[in-house]
Amino acid sequence: MLKIMSEFDIKQGLRVVLSKLEEASQRRKPELQCIKPTLVAVSKTKPASCIIEAYEEGQRHFGENYVNELVEKANNPDILEKCKDIKWHFIGHLQSNKINKVLALKNIHMIETVDSQKLATNLNKSWPNFGPPDSKLKIFVQVNTSGEQEKNGIEPKEVGNLVKFILSDCKNLQLHGLMTIGKYGYNPEDGPNPDFLKLKSCRDDVCSNLELDWKSVNLSMGMSDDFEQAIELGSTYVRVGSKIFGYRPKKN
Ligand SMILES: *Cc1c(COP(=O)(O)O)cnc(C)c1O
Repeated sequence: MLKIMSEFDIKQGLRVVLSKLEEASQRRKPELQCIKPTLVAVSKTKPASCIIEAYEEGQRHFGENYVNELVEKANNPDILEKCKDIKWHFIGHLQSNKINKVLALKNIHMIETVDSQKLATNLNKSWPNFGPPDSKLKIFVQVNTSGEQEKNGIEPKEVGNLVKFILSDCKNLQLHGLMTIGKYGYNPEDGPNPDFLKLKSCRDDVCSNLELDWKSVNLSMGMSDDFEQAIELGSTYVRVGSKIFGYRPKKN
């Protein structure tokens, strides 16, 4: 197994994913063509050297879902020196007592997993202590589109209320879009993934109820096995790990 991991060609993996992303973008409906999807390279469990390799190939957005791992990597001297323009996305569950650790990171770019008023309130309160003056922290609202108990995210019917709260009460946050993880193991050949359709309908509802421009509300959905379909269905941020970095042993 070690052999396979060390032989995985990250630069090649990245190039393949980017060309598939481009092809999938071109298969979208005409009204979606103006938006180029952003690739977030999910580097969890992978060492700093892998991140640097992808960065050198031009990748800038990276995602991590454990606070301690993100903190370690974002403060890694080699990454700080060689990846000056890296943009970190936090994509895991964020407990309020860990907020300051994440917001203090030099290159934190976005929190993709805001799923409660409490978390939004706390992020809003903390950001001025860390961000540049008058800046806003970019966030996604995470939606539990699959209704699975163990999944984080707000229920679809609550999305409107949380978005409204963020827009009216969280002046230091900038709503960047909606995010879902969705059910694992869905076979894209069985038709359009219901989680992707659900997230898109949440976006459409929120935009019509709150009179927002749909182009300003991104959709973060799609991972290694289904990012092409997600893009065809309107995803503007895909989070891809193993197809870029190779096989990843499961935690615990
Ligand atoms: C691990 C992870 C991914 C990437 O998973 P792959 O299947 O390796 O592409 C995407 N999003 C989240 C939230 C993750 O935790």
